[in-house]
Amino acid sequence: MKNIAILGSTGSIGTQALEVIAANPTLFCAKVLTAQSNVELLVQQALIFNPSVVVIGDERKYQELKKALENTTIEVKAGAEALCEVVLLPELEIVLTALVGFAGLKPTIAAIKAGKHIALANKETLVVAGELITNLAKQHNISILPVDSEHSAIFQCLIGELDAIEKIYLTASGGPFRGKNIEFLSEVTKHQALKHPNWVMGAKITIDSASLMNKGLEVIEAKWLFNLDVEQIDVIVHPQSIVHSIVQFQDGSMKAQMGLPDMKLPIQYALAYPNRLKNDFKRFDFLDYPSLTFEQADTKTFRNLALAFEALKKAGNMPCIVNAANEVVVAEFLKEQIGFLQMSEVIETCMAKLDFIKNPSLEDYFESDKQTRIFAKELVTNI
Ligand code: NAD
Ligand code: MG
Repeated sequence: MKNIAILGSTGSIGTQALEVIAANPTLFCAKVLTAQSNVELLVQQALIFNPSVVVIGDERKYQELKKALENTTIEVKAGAEALCEVVLLPELEIVLTALVGFAGLKPTIAAIKAGKHIALANKETLVVAGELITNLAKQHNISILPVDSEHSAIFQCLIGELDAIEKIYLTASGGPFRGKNIEFLSEVTKHQALKHPNWVMGAKITIDSASLMNKGLEVIEAKWLFNLDVEQIDVIVHPQSIVHSIVQFQDGSMKAQMGLPDMKLPIQYALAYPNRLKNDFKRFDFLDYPSLTFEQADTKTFRNLALAFEALKKAGNMPCIVNAANEVVVAEFLKEQIGFLQMSEVIETCMAKLDFIKNPSLEDYFESDKQTRIFAKELVTNI
């Protein structure tokens, strides 16, 4: 039996993880559930899964949660700091980081230091502080198991391989605006951007997918997960989202991992690793997809992907700056305060203007994140 903490249990990844856990009650037990503000769903989940402890991020909702669970033995906590406490629970084996954004960094560090394996959905943590996190994981002898479908694909392709990777191809669906030009993008609304062709996900990652920033973040995530040079990482647009990513080895042989787009599969793989579990998920039928197609990513129109590559090459705190600026612009785009293309403009200005630090400490990352958010918000206000 593996005891699991789900940070962000009410989100898209969190709820699908609970489906996987519910389908395998003799293998997995949800010991910790956390949410930022959705008390109603958190209570429902707590009553079904009976965890040891639940956390609500928004402290104003503590009393409501406490009251709803008063007839249970479930401990109730609130606030961001509580996330760092609950991952220390001795019986936990795996912490699934299914929360969104920079908020994942602190609890992930706490969990690694406590010797917990990380099932990593929260890619922003590796984008911001990949070197620090992977070093810490080595030091504490824990695994970082990718949940992101592309990285799960690469991870699966590498099982049994000892020799060097020549390169990897991360596949990208291209999002709802694939093939569109600048004129079209200058007019798009958040409702159009929120309609992803292949995946149903949280709002932030859905906007990131439309702007190709998601793929940019994934390039940085892949660098750290698989210890690659930037030149070894390529992106290929594959609109059907069936080939989840590809590894090319030094003899030219390529391995790809395929399947229908369903996040329950990589979630289940990460939780069950090194085993594969039976399930009744829908199977792929070749006749439904007589052609799988591939094309080049349009980084001239979708600037964010190019900016992420640039940040990775520059290294230091640059990916942290890009991540913070991106979190601000996505939130502002969702509030209809800025247009789709202005998101890249703000990110690019942040990259040019904020202090570059070559070898940042953990404190530097927090400071860069803070400064970038302040500056990006100013830029948005002046638009
Ligand atoms: P979501 O918005 O659906 O859910 C986010 C969860 O985190 C919710 O439970 C929410 O309550 C919690 N949360 C939000 N802000 C928080 C904060 N500041 N502090 C603590 N908790 C907070 O997001 P999602 O789509 O499930 O994505 C979660 C992570 O997984 C992201 O990093 C995303 O990039 C990654 N991911 C998601 C998918 C997907 O299919 N949804 C695929 C690959 C990777
Ligand atoms: Mg992905």
